[in-house]
Amino acid sequence: MGLLSPRYARNGEAHVKLNGLQAQMKRQIDRKVEKGVYIFEAIPCPVCQSIEFDPLAEQDRYGLHFPVVICRGCGLVQTNPRMNQTSYDEFYNAEYRRLYEGSAAPTDGSFALQYERGKQLFHSVVRYFTRPPADYFVLEVGCGSGGVVKYFQEQGCRVKGIDLGEEYLLHGRQKHGLDLTPGTLADLALEEAPDVIIYSHVMEHILDPTAELALVRHHLAPGGLLCIEVPGVRFVQHAYDGDFLRMLQNAHTFHFTLQSLTNLLGVNGFMRLAGDELVRGIFTPAPGGKGGLGLVNEAASIRAFLDALESEYMLLAGLARMREGAFPQAAMIFSQLTGIAPESSYAYRCFALALRRMGREKDAVRIEEMIDQVYAVSGRPQ
Ligand SMILES: [Zn+2]
Repeated sequence: MGLLSPRYARNGEAHVKLNGLQAQMKRQIDRKVEKGVYIFEAIPCPVCQSIEFDPLAEQDRYGLHFPVVICRGCGLVQTNPRMNQTSYDEFYNAEYRRLYEGSAAPTDGSFALQYERGKQLFHSVVRYFTRPPADYFVLEVGCGSGGVVKYFQEQGCRVKGIDLGEEYLLHGRQKHGLDLTPGTLADLALEEAPDVIIYSHVMEHILDPTAELALVRHHLAPGGLLCIEVPGVRFVQHAYDGDFLRMLQNAHTFHFTLQSLTNLLGVNGFMRLAGDELVRGIFTPAPGGKGGLGLVNEAASIRAFLDALESEYMLLAGLARMREGAFPQAAMIFSQLTGIAPESSYAYRCFALALRRMGREKDAVRIEEMIDQVYAVSGRPQ
């Protein structure tokens, strides 16, 4: 199986609009990749240990080198080969925030976004509380400026946050009076075991989730709750206008579905209490311990899902080009989708058929009228 579609092949072009700072960061990363400053390493799948993968993409939304594959053994979508830890450390230090957010400093906007996530997360997890919130000690790993734990604190929980971004921690401490400290779970000394540990949009960045989850099992209070939020591959229609390419960004080493996240947690000794395709999952240590839970291979179903998503995305892109009157560009898109030469009206006719199947009868009729106009003069798209 090849890439999802030709636009996933590496051409170095950004698929999203970049501001001046972002464009500068992209060039800087490209140079470091070309010169071998950033080193890529191939890894076995961290869930099933397979070394057999099928390719999906060669670049991310910024046009950066970014090989994304599906594991044949379990279906986990992952970046592989991916940058090693030293390279990622430098990337987070030098480029990540500037590339991702287009600014180097924390903003009130990013805090408000975290706070909203905290609110939704609290209401998902509170139903598993067996004591009043005031009895709960909540730790967030990768807390940024602490918007998520702020909401938990307002509900009565005792909270703490850790992160590597000093500027963000300072923002949360000074502006919101939160207990936020620099560090990771590996170097954290706690006087009290957390009843809840939160990873909100963090797990997809972690290079060794197996080691991380071992630390979680070590720190978490007996019967404690682990809340993980990651961008959901099956949620792409709602979050990225149905464009999987826009979801891909070079900081992410894993691209989860609820099933692949559950697989990862399962082989590391956690069972799922609740979850959705956002993805938001609530887990607790499994009674059987590590390796007690079997995994479900979703390789075929996730590929089928992504293929269907990509066809639909391309069809809508083609439709938009036709509406603009850009017929040759539309013909190229249909040709890529159907494998039929762009000069042939069959590429358009297949497109009309696909629209009809999507329930877009009016668009299909319009396209058929256009086909007649476009081919009327010379027999080729004008
Ligand atoms: Zn696997």
